[in-house]
Amino acid sequence: MKIMKFGGTSVGKPERMYQVKDLVTTGDEPTIVVLSALSGTTNALVGIGDALSAGDKILAKQRIDELNAHYKQFCSELFRSEVSRQEGEKIIQEHFEFLAILLKISFNDAISKDILAQGELLSTKLFYTLLQELQIDAVFLPALDFMSIDEHSEPELTKIREKLNALLAKYPQKKLFVTQGYICKNHRNEVDNLKRGGSDYTASLIGAAISASVVEIWTDIDGMHNNDPRIVDKTRPIANLSFDEAAELAYFGAKILHPASIWPAQQFNIPVKLLNTMQPEALGTTITANVQERGGVKALAAKDGITAIKIKSSRMLLAYGFLRKVFDVFEKYRTSIDMITTSEVAISLTIDDISHLEEIKLELDKFGTVEIDHNMAIICIVGNLIMEQQGVLQDIMGSLSEIPLRMVSYGGSKHNVSVLVDAAYKNQALQSLNQGLFDF
Ligand code: ADP
Ligand code: ASP
Ligand code: MG
Repeated sequence: MKIMKFGGTSVGKPERMYQVKDLVTTGDEPTIVVLSALSGTTNALVGIGDALSAGDKILAKQRIDELNAHYKQFCSELFRSEVSRQEGEKIIQEHFEFLAILLKISFNDAISKDILAQGELLSTKLFYTLLQELQIDAVFLPALDFMSIDEHSEPELTKIREKLNALLAKYPQKKLFVTQGYICKNHRNEVDNLKRGGSDYTASLIGAAISASVVEIWTDIDGMHNNDPRIVDKTRPIANLSFDEAAELAYFGAKILHPASIWPAQQFNIPVKLLNTMQPEALGTTITANVQERGGVKALAAKDGITAIKIKSSRMLLAYGFLRKVFDVFEKYRTSIDMITTSEVAISLTIDDISHLEEIKLELDKFGTVEIDHNMAIICIVGNLIMEQQGVLQDIMGSLSEIPLRMVSYGGSKHNVSVLVDAAYKNQALQSLNQGLFDF
């Protein structure tokens, strides 16, 4: 069985849904289709939740009405038969009535998750109705019946596997299944989600749960590019990446993949392909365990919203156990550290989740002077055996000669060099490195 995940732009227009239909019905292999919400919908739903949480019901209603109008228009263009159009309108009405009810009740975090779930519920139901109209045999698999996360918001892969396989076993003859990306149930059995961009993660988790032959991520670009195409003009797709390289790029900001979407596929050695719905014949990127290639820098990515913390302590000098004490503080607050550098008297590290920064700082104050810098960006340079390549570090530093570097991490792995800069320099850093490291 294979997994085909389609992102927001791939389902964002009625004609695109027809393209998706064509793509999922070619080939004989049984397929689970994972869909995102139509492009713009999740942002609109976030806007509705924000208005409700601010107590602005007029604005919330206005936003709900705008989104509703968009769906009515979409539906009028999607279906060819009156019966299907009516079915589509019924689906839309049901979900927008649900949103309208929320205007009347008091808002809380669980409701905000319910709101966010409407996008994927709508896209999959409309797509499934389209398949029915076109008499394409398919099964609708509600993700809320099998996708779940634990109290730490981590996916429960074992449970997901059991539930999904039990569901699939009911349809041994069927070849096409449609489900929602992004949404899940949490440990309180409430509707929740896998964070923004989470449909990629759903696809990979499902792939791992059923030992799929491949996880295909269909999007609006022809694969992972060597640099962020939203920031840098000249970029090109990369044909092959290893799981480690792809995970690193995704984690450090390559928006094409959800940061956590690689590990489930990697754990079960399932190839991941990044493909372009608008250009299905393009090669895209294939992500597998071993990529035998010459060394060198392959790609760059940048992650902003980074906070740097420096702990200076003369007591650290030759003190064994000091790092453990520092790390214990971060572990206690479940805050992961991305980069780290040390000297005899100081340790600098970065985090992106600052929800417990105050408590962390209070505890670190016991060890020495603590300095905090917000608004930093990590530029991550990923490749094959970069460390064994002569001159790579020189090229990186040469390209960044005009940019003040706050931290440099080299040697942590053979495949990665990371630098920390003020976020104001992020675009300049990506552009300069593009010129300095790639020969175009
Ligand atoms: P989808 O809605 O299909 O999930 P996303 O918008 O989440 O699509 O991801 C695709 C986008 O990721 C591309 O349109 C591109 O602008 C952006 N992107 C950022 N970095 C990269 C990169 N290194 N390679 C390819 N795309 C990238
Ligand atoms: N619709 C969700 C989002 O926009 C999930 C996804 O598209 O992957 O974040
Ligand atoms: Mg995405």
